[in-house]
Amino acid sequence: MASGITAKLLHVDLSTRQTRTEEVPETVLRKHLGGGALAAHILLRDMPAGVDPLGPDNVLVFMTSVINGLSLSGTNRYTAAAKSPLTGGYGESEAGGWWGPELRAAGWDGVVIRGRSATPVYLWIKDDKVEFRDATPYWGQLSGEVQDGIERELGDKRMRVLQTGVSGERGVRFAAIVNQLKHFHGRCGLGAVMGAKRLKAIAVRGSKPPAASDKDGARKQLTGFKERYNRATDRFHQLGSASGVLALEASGILPTRNFRDGSFEHAKAISGQTMRDTILTDRGTCYACAVACKREVEVKELGVTPKYGGPEYESLAASGSLCGVGDLKKLALINQLYAQYVLDSISAGAVIAFAMECYEHGIITKEMTGGIDLTWGNADAVVEMVHRIGRREGIGALLGEGVKRAAAKLGKGAERFALHVKGQELPMHDPRGKKGLSLAYALSPTGADHMEAPHDPLYAGFHPQGHPMGVLGLIEPLDPLHLDARKVRAFYETQKVWSAYNSVGMCDFVGAPLNALELGPMVDYINAVTGWNMSLYELMKVGERNNTLARLFNVREGFTPEDDILPQRLHEGIGNGALKGERVDPDEFFAARRTYYEMAGWDPQTGRPTTAKLAELGVESAAT
Ligand code: SF4
Repeated sequence: MASGITAKLLHVDLSTRQTRTEEVPETVLRKHLGGGALAAHILLRDMPAGVDPLGPDNVLVFMTSVINGLSLSGTNRYTAAAKSPLTGGYGESEAGGWWGPELRAAGWDGVVIRGRSATPVYLWIKDDKVEFRDATPYWGQLSGEVQDGIERELGDKRMRVLQTGVSGERGVRFAAIVNQLKHFHGRCGLGAVMGAKRLKAIAVRGSKPPAASDKDGARKQLTGFKERYNRATDRFHQLGSASGVLALEASGILPTRNFRDGSFEHAKAISGQTMRDTILTDRGTCYACAVACKREVEVKELGVTPKYGGPEYESLAASGSLCGVGDLKKLALINQLYAQYVLDSISAGAVIAFAMECYEHGIITKEMTGGIDLTWGNADAVVEMVHRIGRREGIGALLGEGVKRAAAKLGKGAERFALHVKGQELPMHDPRGKKGLSLAYALSPTGADHMEAPHDPLYAGFHPQGHPMGVLGLIEPLDPLHLDARKVRAFYETQKVWSAYNSVGMCDFVGAPLNALELGPMVDYINAVTGWNMSLYELMKVGERNNTLARLFNVREGFTPEDDILPQRLHEGIGNGALKGERVDPDEFFAARRTYYEMAGWDPQTGRPTTAKLAELGVESAAT
C-alpha cells in the first residue's frame, strides 16, 4: 500500500513576488529521494538550455530529502543547484548545518527560485507563511552583520539564516552560500546566482519537525548506529577533516605551490594536530549529528572568533600549502574572511595560488596587484587578495572570474598555471597519487570535485570479510597508483553511493565507507521514515539517476568528451616528496575514461547517455 508521502515545494518568482506550491508525487519522490537527484529533475524540467547563469531565467533550487530533519546523525544535508556561472554547466553543492531541517519543520521540502528582484530582498518563511522583505540594509554587509541584523529585525534567535555574501552580490564566479555563518554550499558559484537575483537571504522557522512513519523501526536504526559509532576513536571528531594535512603529506600528495609539489615543508605547522593543540576552542556540529567534526577556533590578536567556525582541510591546503603559507593563525584569519565574504575557500585559494605562479613568471606584476607582493608564502598578501576578490576590486575583479577566464584574459601562457576542470578549480587532492580521483575530477558534472566518490586509499582496503562496500561486490584491494578497468568499476559503483548520499541528504563523514553508518541500515532507516520497501538496488539507482540527469544537463548545454579532461600539470610528474615524478599517464586515463562511458551507458563518441540507459533509469522524458 502506498504511504502517500509527497514532497511540498515552494516556488518563488522574485520578479513578480508571487509564490505557489507544488506537490511532488510519491512515484517521482521515491525515484529521486530529494537533494541532487530531485534538484536535477527540476532544473531539466523547468529551465531551458542556454540561459544566462547570472540572468533572471536561471532557476535556483534548494532541496532537502525524505529523511532530512530526523534524528539520525548526518541526515541534515541538503542541496543547492542551478546553472553554474563558473562552468556554464550543472551546478550542485551540498551543505549541512541547520537550515535544511528548519525548512522541513516549516513544512517545506524545497524552495525553487526564479526571476530577479528589482531591489535587494530576503525571504522570511515561517511555517506556511512566506514574506518578501527589504534587504537593502544588509546589501554590502559581511555575513556576521547580516545574520545578527536579520535575527534582530525578526526578533527570533532560533530561526536559521541562509545567505549569499558581498562576493555573491558582486558576481564573483565562485561565491558561496552559507547557513548560520559556518555551513557552506561552497562550490559552483551558486552564491553569485543568488546575488544576481538580488536575493540576499532566506530566513526560516518551523514548528512541526517531521516524524518517522515507523517510529520503532527508526529508533532501532538510531540505537544500532550508536552501538557501532565510537567518538573516542573517530578521526573526524578528534581532528576534523584537517587530519588530512599530515596524512596527505606523508603520502606525498599534499597539493603544494599550485600542484607543482606534493610535500610542504610547513605541513606540521598547519595540521589538524597543531590546530587542536593551539587555537581550537571547541568542536562544532550540524543538526542532530553525533560526529561533531567541525572546528571552532580563536586567535584574539587577529580578531578571529569561533562565531565563524574554523578551517577545514580544504581551506588549510588551498590557502596554506598551495600558496606556500605555513602560518596557521593567518590561515584561521583567511578562513574567517572567506566566511565573511561568503567565498568558496577552495576556488579562492586556488585562484590566489594561480596568481602567485603567474607573478613568479612575470605574467602578473606588482603594478597589476596594486603593490601586493605575491611571492609564495606571503600570508599577508593572501589576506589582502581575499579582500580584493571578495569585493571584486582591483586585481580581484580579474581573479573573481576564476582561473580559466583569468588565464584567458592574461594570455602569455597563463593557461598552464590554471588548474581546473570545466572551469572549476581543482580541490586539494592530487590524482597523481590516487589515480581513481582523475576520473572523479574529469567526469564530475560540476567540474573538478573531490566529493564525487571515496578516494583510492579506501579501495586499497577492500576485502571479502565484511567490508562495508562488499554489499556492492567490491571485495578485492586495489592499488591507489593503478588506473585500470577494476579501478573504473570501483569508482563507478562508489560514485553511485555518494550521489545517493547527495540525494538522500546523508553526510559522507557519517556514512560508509568513511564512517560507521553502513548502507543496509541506511536503507532500513529510509524505509522506517517513509513507509516504503526500498532496496539497496533501488538506492543505488537513485545515485545513478542523479549522475545521469546531471550529465544530461551538461550535454544539453553543449558539453562533450572534450570537457572530460585533466589539466596538463596532472600528466606531469610531482616535483618533490614521497611520490616525486608520479603522474597520470594520458593513455591510461583516456582508456579508463572510455571504460567508464561504456559502463555508465554513455556513448563513447559523444559522451551522451544512451536512450536505453535513460529508459532503464526511467528518465527518458528528461532528454526531451
Ligand atoms: S559529520 Fe560533520 S559535517 Fe557531517 S553532519 Fe556531522 S558535523 Fe556535519
